[in-house]
Amino acid sequence: MILLHICCGPCALYPVSCLRQRGLSIKGFFYNPNIHPYQEYQMRIQALEKVAQIETLEIIWHREYDLEYFLEETLFRWQKPKRCERCYYLRLKKCAELAVKLRAEAFTTTLLQSPFQYHELIRDIGKELESRYKIPFYYEDWRVGYKEGKNRAKTLALYLQRYCGCIFSEKERYLSRS
Ligand code: SF4
Repeated sequence: MILLHICCGPCALYPVSCLRQRGLSIKGFFYNPNIHPYQEYQMRIQALEKVAQIETLEIIWHREYDLEYFLEETLFRWQKPKRCERCYYLRLKKCAELAVKLRAEAFTTTLLQSPFQYHELIRDIGKELESRYKIPFYYEDWRVGYKEGKNRAKTLALYLQRYCGCIFSEKERYLSRS
């Protein structure tokens, strides 16, 4: 079994189909203290619940809205890419720890699907955690399936977020328009 960290419902569609096409069994893991504010957090959870039902995908949920923890962890690292590096690290670390506990064969993340993330940084953090926790990080460049996943999400009428997740990215969304 591969433990798949899932950042949101739309981003899960392509990696899930890809891993299944390769004959791999998957368990999802939702852990994203970086999503703010609370209503946005709930909307993304609901979108993933819908995906889980459609895909018959088991998900381990970490539903607590841990805003304070995220802010503490990114304190004095508000600028990108430092902030994102910390954000990837804390989510992937939790996934690696759970994967070890569950005796999974590997762990990975749907973050590898987004062309808007620091892809190489995610891969490098995954590899760093692989050697630290002695569990393989499954790497694949899923950016090739970004459009396919997004189109499918639209067909399923899934909620599509307009910013990455944290309150800083919500601000950047508006500033980048001006
Ligand atoms: S922009 Fe996205 S990846 Fe970067 S810190 Fe915010 S939520 Fe995390």
